Amino acid sequence: MSRLIRAVIDTRALQHNLSVIRERARGAHIMAVVKANAYGHGLVPTALALAAADAFAVARLEEGLALRAAGITQPIVLLEGVFTAEQLREAARHGFDLVVHDVLQIELLEEMSGAHRLVLWIKVDTGMNRLGFPPRDFLAALGRVQRLQPAPLEIRLLTHLACADERDNRMTNAQVACFRQATQGLDYAVSIANSAGILGAAQLGCDWVRPGLALYGASPFADTSAAELGLEPAMTLQTSVIATRRLCRGETVGYGAAWSAPRDSAIAIVAAGYGDGLARGLPGGTPVLIGGQRAPIVGRVSMDMIAADVSELPPVRVGTPAVLWGPGLPVEEVARHAGTIPYELLCGVSQRVPIELR
Ligand SMILES: *Cc1c(COP(=O)(O)O)cnc(C)c1O
Repeated sequence: MSRLIRAVIDTRALQHNLSVIRERARGAHIMAVVKANAYGHGLVPTALALAAADAFAVARLEEGLALRAAGITQPIVLLEGVFTAEQLREAARHGFDLVVHDVLQIELLEEMSGAHRLVLWIKVDTGMNRLGFPPRDFLAALGRVQRLQPAPLEIRLLTHLACADERDNRMTNAQVACFRQATQGLDYAVSIANSAGILGAAQLGCDWVRPGLALYGASPFADTSAAELGLEPAMTLQTSVIATRRLCRGETVGYGAAWSAPRDSAIAIVAAGYGDGLARGLPGGTPVLIGGQRAPIVGRVSMDMIAADVSELPPVRVGTPAVLWGPGLPVEEVARHAGTIPYELLCGVSQRVPIELR
């Protein structure tokens, strides 16, 4: 029991989810989004497991460099592009594809010397109001990119949806219409959909899709489970019981004596806390699996431990396995208890938690 908490990654589930997405994406190329340490799953091992993806997408240059250093040869897209001439040279040297969302980035490209030819993704801001050229500026930006010397290897166009996780949200249609209008008559490959866009009802008709969350086996929708979408959770955040207690009615557990036993109770102390990335705000009642069965967390989350009420379970001992999320306990469900989204829980798994591949 030297390594108590670990994130066990099921590479077969990652590959299964990729194939589900491929089916739903109707022939579109797949850019597997592996930013933020592959949503906590481990950047390099995840990319190696997803070798069947057509490209990888990351947020930062450093993430792309780590992939290249690991021998990944697929195209790598920097979703935020580059911000300095040095970053641009480095990106060109490693053959990264760049999102261009700001005039500063076009200026860097115009000023770059040398014979590098890059794939450039021009981003249109269709209402997210984060990155991209607003429709009124888009054609001017495109014109400058088209006139670059040397010419780009290829120009492609993308936008990002704000509300695709709400199935009937009118904003999605409005954004798609805005994108179509802005890019009307242009013969470039386009990309619109993230996981929710791919798995949602609307057919967005893209040349490229950009799944993140769905690859990891979590549902982007509040009203549809991953299982209903055919997805399998790739991460099991697994640990063990390291102590047990019998409490008399009225005795309390943990800091602040925040929970007191409403009756005589059996308590399991589980080796996982906010030092591992669990939200300290996880409320009492949030389920964990102890020996494969659900038990509610009681009391406050500590740095290295939580407590669960196992009064209703068969006997629990030191060493009984515990699962924070994974098959049998979707991370989406834990996120709902925590008042957050599965993205944040997955990305939040901390550095001290070893990643183990299965
Ligand atoms: C993170 C990201 C994605 C992936 O989104 P999911 O909801 O995880 O599928 C796609 N596109 C862009 C631009 C992103 O930043």
